[in-house]
Amino acid sequence: MAGRKIGFVPTMGALHDGHMSLVRRAREECDYVAVSIFVNPTQFGPSEDFDKYPRTFSDDLEKCKKARVDLVFAPPASEMYPPGFDSWVEVKGFITQTLEGECRPNHFRGVTTVCAKLFNIVGPDVAYFGMKDYQQLKVIQKMVRELNMPLEIVPCPTVREADGLAMSSRNSYLSPEERDAALVLSRSLMKAQEIFASGEREAEVIEGVARQVLLSEPLVRIDYVAVRDAETLEPIERVEKEAVVLIAARIGSTRLIDNCLLSVEHRTD
Ligand code: AMP
Repeated sequence: MAGRKIGFVPTMGALHDGHMSLVRRAREECDYVAVSIFVNPTQFGPSEDFDKYPRTFSDDLEKCKKARVDLVFAPPASEMYPPGFDSWVEVKGFITQTLEGECRPNHFRGVTTVCAKLFNIVGPDVAYFGMKDYQQLKVIQKMVRELNMPLEIVPCPTVREADGLAMSSRNSYLSPEERDAALVLSRSLMKAQEIFASGEREAEVIEGVARQVLLSEPLVRIDYVAVRDAETLEPIERVEKEAVVLIAARIGSTRLIDNCLLSVEHRTD
């Protein structure tokens, strides 16, 4: 509807500048901006950090107010998942089984279900998602496309600290020593981009170089390092169209993810 464009930013709160970059984009492009703050229990595994996930609701509200957010939706879990709740929205297939799907069974089922519910409740024209959670973005885009959900998904670039660490609510778990060690994720992605820029196209070689950088940091345990097709996330041998390097690693008890695109320039000459 003209003059009534609703932009939506779904979050789990503990808002940082990564989240706020999505809010700013929505504020620029839409007439109304809604933000949800909901630590979604169904996307956490039983041994994951649901209980200790940072909750900073009054600070979050203040940030939303300053950013001229029109509506904050922060439901209790009992309202989103009342007793007897049985309806799940699931994207099946390789894209939810690989990488995060392999490390965190049922994670994406929780993500797609809560996003479908939030989209139905808020009724946005546009929803903004960070590329920081690249696989999540691709899964949501697939769900919206395949289920004909009447909204547009806008991907937004990853916001980083000055030293390269991707902003994440989970960074608050890191001790100063772990915080230093965590820099190896972005360093490793930069190295992958560097050898790609110098002409390397073999996925295995790019992956190997990124892995070597990660292995140089003894505090880091690698869950995966992978060079994949940027759309399907399927393994590739050579980077001939857009690809993505994805990393998941644990530092102490904190699990971090990061990624970067490898974009092949289309030459017309
Ligand atoms: P979360 O609260 O972690 O579920 O994130 C809510 C939204 O913010 C998701 O679309 C994330 O991808 C996005 N987001 C989180 N961290 C960043 C970041 N550093 N840069 C850009 N977007 C981010």
